[in-house]
Amino acid sequence: MASDREVFRAPKGTRDVLPPDSARWLEIIGAFSDRAARFGYGLVMTPIFEHYEVFARVGASTDVVKKEMYDFFDKGNRRLALRPEGTAGTVRAFAEHRPMAPWKVWYCAANFRYERPQEGRYRQHWQLGAEAIGSDDPQIDIEMIDFLAGFYRELGLTQVQLMVNSMGDAESRARYVDVLLSYWREHAETLGDEMARAEQNPLRILDSKRPDWQTVIADAPKLSEYLSDESAAQFDAVQCGLTAIDIPFTIEPRLVRGFDYYTATVFEFQGAALGGAQNALGGGGRYDKLSEEMGGPPAAAIGFGSGIERLLLACDAESVVPVPESRVDVFVIDTMDGSDAGVVLHELRGNGLRADRSYGSKNVKKQWSAASAAGARFGVMLAPREAEAGVVAVKDLRNGEQVEVARIDIAQWLASRCS
Ligand code: AMP
Repeated sequence: MASDREVFRAPKGTRDVLPPDSARWLEIIGAFSDRAARFGYGLVMTPIFEHYEVFARVGASTDVVKKEMYDFFDKGNRRLALRPEGTAGTVRAFAEHRPMAPWKVWYCAANFRYERPQEGRYRQHWQLGAEAIGSDDPQIDIEMIDFLAGFYRELGLTQVQLMVNSMGDAESRARYVDVLLSYWREHAETLGDEMARAEQNPLRILDSKRPDWQTVIADAPKLSEYLSDESAAQFDAVQCGLTAIDIPFTIEPRLVRGFDYYTATVFEFQGAALGGAQNALGGGGRYDKLSEEMGGPPAAAIGFGSGIERLLLACDAESVVPVPESRVDVFVIDTMDGSDAGVVLHELRGNGLRADRSYGSKNVKKQWSAASAAGARFGVMLAPREAEAGVVAVKDLRNGEQVEVARIDIAQWLASRCS
């Protein structure tokens, strides 16, 4: 009887990641963790939910806090929220555990934002990120940018552009914010209803993508003209360091990034192959005051986050990191009762081979189809005549060649050819 039960679907703005596509995720995460290890960063895993106030530190004037937070009261009436980004929870962990500085950590974590879903923008997205907490040395800024630039490069992406800017220190920014606010007031007509937002945080308007504001934004005063000597020297050092290691960049005076906690260096990598509003591949910057705001010790810090879904869109656009054609090295075809196949597979897997089989009594033709669907390089055929002779038939599925191999040697024979 046909079921009339509703088919459940993943919530709006979320996506399932399934094989074979999930293999690309593993490759990307593996490449990132490998690069993190080379730069001396250790894995950090913080809770998916935190006290609401931890994430609210991202900034009272930001959309993430004002409109997009998944917050709720638990059964103990605590106000909690799902993680909207990676930095706040990591800094909370630093403030709580006080590890030796600089604390260099990386993460791979799901983030939740109640946004209007579209390509490259989801309600649950994943970020690879890194944070270095406890040093204001501009050498760490350079290292961070090198970490992320090289990650994209090692994946094979070439159409990536780096923008950098400096948000200055608190004094430089305070001076600038005053000037900027006066400028917005002069253009209150253009900003219309959003003038209230400009009053609350004048910087937020700068990175708006609204087409009707672009002329006013382009003519706005630039933060770089208000940097203190110290901030300007810090920003110079970052630029010199990037040039010394051949990382091309553009200074983008309007780059202010979406969160209120940023100070000094900010940067963003844009994927030229990605469309308009979703072209930010990853970015980050300094947040020298956040540890203290979380009740921790004074600790200058810098970090970045890079969205995995968006990275995959960039990989698609540039035809890199393809879905692997092969799921296994070897497929075992059994024409007997299937129990021998279990023993052979146990040996193959124990020798490091990726190996699979069919289950139930499938006919031989179906088993060979399953072998090619799995992208196996070799098919190992178990049949009564060969079993009696102490051999197995092995077919190289690339060229159709078939040989007999002693049953006792099969695992090593295959392992030496599949490594
Ligand atoms: P942010 O934490 O807003 O600085 O974003 C860092 C990176 O995460 C962006 O450059 C994107 O790659 C990615 N990202 C941010 N928000 C989303 C989203 N809603 N959906 C998919 N990716 C996102």
